[in-house]
Amino acid sequence: MNVNKIVINQVERKLDLGMILCKYCGCLMGTIPTNGVKKFYGVCQSEPCQQLSKGGH
Ligand SMILES: [Zn+2]
Repeated sequence: MNVNKIVINQVERKLDLGMILCKYCGCLMGTIPTNGVKKFYGVCQSEPCQQLSKGGH
């Protein structure tokens, strides 16, 4: 059982990434540990993206 747990931990460690991407330019803003590979979208600090997020319509 211990061996199994180690394998699972390694797999999880490898896949244990939630990527935070800017929804406008697609740049990688950061990573957070998640349960599996996931993508999250936000707005990065760059000026064009901030403008886009503010001037929505
Ligand atoms: Zn951006």
